[in-house]
Amino acid sequence: MISLLAKFDRDTARHFAALLGLISANFIVATGIFVLMESQDSGTLFVVQMSMIALISALSCLFLLHLNRDRLKAAKELDSLAATDKLTNIANREAFHDQLEQRVSMNKDKFPFALICLDIDRFKELNAFLGYTSADQVLQQLGERLAKLATYERDAARLSGDEFALMLPYDGSDSDLEAKIRKVFDSLYRSYECHKQSVDLTYSVGITLFPDDAVEAESLFQNAHFALERAKQDGHDRIYCYDDVADPKMLDCHFLSHDMDRALQDGEFRLFYQPQYSFANGKLAGFEALIRWHHRDRGIISPEIFIPIAEKNGLILPLSDLILRMACETASKWVNPLKVAVNLSPVQMQQCEIHERVSEILLDTGLDPHRLELEVTESLFIDIDDRVSTDLKRLQKMGISIALDDFGTGYSSLAYLTSFPFDKIKIDRSFVQHLATDKSSMAIISAVIGMGKSLDMRITAEGIEDQESYELLRLAGVNEAQGYLLGKPRDISIEPGEEMLPPSRDLKAISA
Ligand code: C2E
Ligand code: CA
Ligand code: CA
Repeated sequence: MISLLAKFDRDTARHFAALLGLISANFIVATGIFVLMESQDSGTLFVVQMSMIALISALSCLFLLHLNRDRLKAAKELDSLAATDKLTNIANREAFHDQLEQRVSMNKDKFPFALICLDIDRFKELNAFLGYTSADQVLQQLGERLAKLATYERDAARLSGDEFALMLPYDGSDSDLEAKIRKVFDSLYRSYECHKQSVDLTYSVGITLFPDDAVEAESLFQNAHFALERAKQDGHDRIYCYDDVADPKMLDCHFLSHDMDRALQDGEFRLFYQPQYSFANGKLAGFEALIRWHHRDRGIISPEIFIPIAEKNGLILPLSDLILRMACETASKWVNPLKVAVNLSPVQMQQCEIHERVSEILLDTGLDPHRLELEVTESLFIDIDDRVSTDLKRLQKMGISIALDDFGTGYSSLAYLTSFPFDKIKIDRSFVQHLATDKSSMAIISAVIGMGKSLDMRITAEGIEDQESYELLRLAGVNEAQGYLLGKPRDISIEPGEEMLPPSRDLKAISA
């Protein structure tokens, strides 16, 4: 029997013991009744009968109470499980939302708090760089740090993948709020340790205040996310307060998303072209096509604002088709057979058969494939499936060149150079712009040039704004140059012949 009991868990064993007790009590009662049947004394018979009924009732009540207590305990445990994020062991989105509802229902003058939503920058790349297990460890450590900073258990939460939230009560004064927020970020910016590696994170952060910015949970969430989105759009590693970013222009993001379909029909998207020059002979080598939205009410809108919106609302596919078609059509009319470079969005690449689309557009416009260059970014290669890679290689076989754009901004750029046979590497302008002041930028560029040469890839430097950087890059052996110094993106309807070159005295100075 003991070994049988040992096989059950503790709760089952206790239930079994209680049931055994009840059965034994019944047995005692039955024996009592049997003894009483033998007795003739009716007074004694009544007293014993009542005592036994009382005994059975008490034992039954105890058994039921016992069962109920266990049921309550199990329900509580289930509740807590449903409110906890499995990976980090802190509150999940639902629990955090309930907590927020509770907070806003309290006396608003007595309990001001800041709602902080944060998103780890480039987490997808970190995942690919570290591997899922180590990246999970980073998330767990971040969860622990947030839990330590939270006043109450459910004030810190993991909302989704790499998005976290924290409620931070303060005494209502700016100085207290600032001190508390500083403490939070002092803690979050400390390095994370995983598998003997030390990882530094940056975050995009949106903050909103209760009751100053809103008094309802839903609005507070929306505010914090709005500020967070704005921080992401402005290039990461930024902490934005809702109050500072809630300008009417940005609140229009939603509006822009809905207006995009109409703008596509009305032909409001147009391409600008930025020249690229060869360092070897100082001559024009081609153009990069850069899209602009000429909005009927708002004027020119930057692609950095509307491309991410199009990637979310699904219009990136018709927009990308339009871009490719316009670029190929324009270039096919140039007498001077220069190259045209077109940017591809990773979302577009993953959602459509890019090889089919490009082939069809080249056929329709009659552009020689050797004159088309497609620019892709490192982020495409994180989730790369064989289909995308095969598609790009098929395009290369047709004569189209593939360039790796924004090189150096990711976690493991060098690793991607060997994962795909790019024709060209475009060094990001963040390196080029620090060239004169930051020695490490030059060291990185030299390393990339060495690697590019050994892998037979050409190198373009973008974002060249001054003569000194131009000279340094030329001496370092970069093949092509692009930047405001040589020409800003322009709406060119004319054929780019010699008239597109900068004035000859500038060129001589540049290529001297
Ligand atoms: P990108 O592909 O890195 O394009 C280069 C950006 O740097 C362009 O901004 C260009 O105007 C700017 N730029 C060029 N030279 C200089 C310089 O000397 N100094 C500075 N400060 N900036 C310079 P733009 O046109 O606003 O485009 C921004 C980004 O939007 C592009 O970055 C690209 O990621 C995206 N984009 C632009 N056009 C398209 C497109 O047709 N399709 C897709 N999918 N993305 C596009
Ligand atoms: Ca580009
Ligand atoms: Ca770029």
